[in-house]
Amino acid sequence: MTDTASSNQSAPPLPPLPQLLTGQTALITGANSGIGEAVALAMGQAGANVAINYVAGDDAAQAVADKIAALGVKAKIYKADVSDETQVQAMFAAAIADFSTVDILVANAGLQRDAAFTSMTLAQWNTVLSVNLTGQFLCAREAVKEFLRRGVVASVSRSAGKIICMSSVHQQIPWGGHVNYATSKGGIKLMMESLAQELAPQRIRVNAIGPGAIRTPINTSAWDTQDAYDKLMTLVPYGRIGEPEDIGHVAAWLASDHADYVVGATLFVDGGMTLYPGFATNG
Ligand code: NAD
Repeated sequence: MTDTASSNQSAPPLPPLPQLLTGQTALITGANSGIGEAVALAMGQAGANVAINYVAGDDAAQAVADKIAALGVKAKIYKADVSDETQVQAMFAAAIADFSTVDILVANAGLQRDAAFTSMTLAQWNTVLSVNLTGQFLCAREAVKEFLRRGVVASVSRSAGKIICMSSVHQQIPWGGHVNYATSKGGIKLMMESLAQELAPQRIRVNAIGPGAIRTPINTSAWDTQDAYDKLMTLVPYGRIGEPEDIGHVAAWLASDHADYVVGATLFVDGGMTLYPGFATNG
């Protein structure tokens, strides 16, 4: 195990991204925090213009836009609740007006409302399903309409558009105490695969990323003390927590033509969390 793992230090930065996405526009939901912010930055580093969705926190969103604009691409913020159909439609209309089209959607916005099952309220259930699952449906639908309207522009990309659904290892690993969240991620899996199957003939690529434990505000209690971190590491064969950048770089690659033949796949970016580490020493 590395020093990074045992001391809970951030992993060193990844190597710079090549210009994989020049001339494309990426819309990232929930992009003023955590994984979404890192995905937005990675898209900008890869040469894409970036539309930054957020629901609260204008300053944080503008700070992300400023960082991306400093890379020499365009970046703009769009306030919208992804679970609200009217707001999602207005956001896509505005982004398409500003950037002339959208080539990439990363449906990332998500939240948790955890509770033991018998204490879980209908509001907790509905909030998680509305944002995590319905939000991805609403954003994907607007993105696909735009991809179909524009079609393939060969000088920009081999495909008419790319959607990346931010799922989780919990589309596969059941998670007691988080039934609403795991249900939303399991739903994303089959929504993504069904969309991928339906839209591949139109040259639209739909895929998902399944992050493991990533150091963001959504799961602070899993890594903010040494005890919690050590316990978490029993679930991660690679021996370190994921950094948001680990997801950002994979998203930039998955959206690029380097991944042109990747259709309907969930790429787990989890340090091996889905490898059933409890069986590593004979179960
Ligand atoms: P985060 O809390 O830092 O980011 C979530 C983002 O979603 C925030 O910007 C939040 O404002 C936004 N959001 C919430 N509700 C919204 C709404 N109604 N409309 C628009 N935006 C909204 O957490 P994160 O870890 O960066 O999570 C990002 C995604 O990654 C989520 O889908 C989460 O389920 C997934 N994920 C995270 C981890 C992890 O370990 N951090 C692991 C697996 C999956």
